Amino acid sequence: MAEGKQYRVLLYYMYVPIDNPEEFAKNHLKFCKELGLKGRILVAHEGINGTVSGTIEQTNKYMETMKQDPRFADIVFKIDESDGHAFKKMHVRPRPELVTLRLEDDINPNELTGDYLSPKEFYKRMQEENVIVLDARNTYEYDLGHFRGAIRPDVETFRDLPQWVRENKHLLEGKKILTYCTGGIRCEKFSGWLKKEGFEEVGQLHGGIVTYGQDPEVQGELWDGSLYVFDERISVPVNRKEHVVVGREYFTGEPCERYANCANPECNKQLLMSEDSEHKYMRSCSHECRVHPRNRYVVEHQMTQEQINERLAKIEEEKVKQEA
Ligand SMILES: [Zn+2]
Repeated sequence: MAEGKQYRVLLYYMYVPIDNPEEFAKNHLKFCKELGLKGRILVAHEGINGTVSGTIEQTNKYMETMKQDPRFADIVFKIDESDGHAFKKMHVRPRPELVTLRLEDDINPNELTGDYLSPKEFYKRMQEENVIVLDARNTYEYDLGHFRGAIRPDVETFRDLPQWVRENKHLLEGKKILTYCTGGIRCEKFSGWLKKEGFEEVGQLHGGIVTYGQDPEVQGELWDGSLYVFDERISVPVNRKEHVVVGREYFTGEPCERYANCANPECNKQLLMSEDSEHKYMRSCSHECRVHPRNRYVVEHQMTQEQINERLAKIEEEKVKQEA
């Protein structure tokens, strides 16, 4: 691997009973801090889910130690090279669920889940007849990148996905369904839920998009755009054969892969925007957000009221021009 990058990002999960998540989280946080790792780990009665960053030495030590625990002997770590830490702090938090679905009847992926497909199997299956590919992620993730031709559920959180499926059953009925997500953890439950809902042929991308992009044979083929990730990197490449940009700028509609959050702290919506647009529109999705009293862009740039008015007038001017 590697042209000598000194840091790594580990992505991993395991569905395995953990008796006392609170106690486990406390001890695990101490352990991670001693190692010098940074990241976010969730612990629940049903297992563990984490992303951590650290030096090669630190992450090696972490993986070794984890695997010595019989509960995590079979855990799979997805490893990405990185120029530095991907997080500012280290958090380990006990949670009721690893991924929030809040189902009436919870799914245990060790008992019910879709067929595991390797990247190569997934790649082949995607191109077969009567197959639909269903993205198990949220719209802002899909919009930055997705498998070519995949269905985009109109959901902003994972727990809305079951409802979306029930309302859009006609898209899926009688088809072989393939689901995928970032690292595979969401699909473990979601594909199990699909089977429980009565869909018979359900396959899931084992190891998720991250593994698909690293696979030496498929090399991310048939993926368009980039992969949204939940750390400071925000996006990482997937398709190593060709890079097609599918992201579209929020303001101009131009191809774009740069995310920024709306500067209104109460909105905070993730928007694809160029650096030019960020300044032009004060990194805000709407006029209401632009004039919010705690607008972060205004604070960061120490803008005076006069400067704000000037910027707003310019946006207004442009709008009139476009409508004319
Ligand atoms: Zn906004």
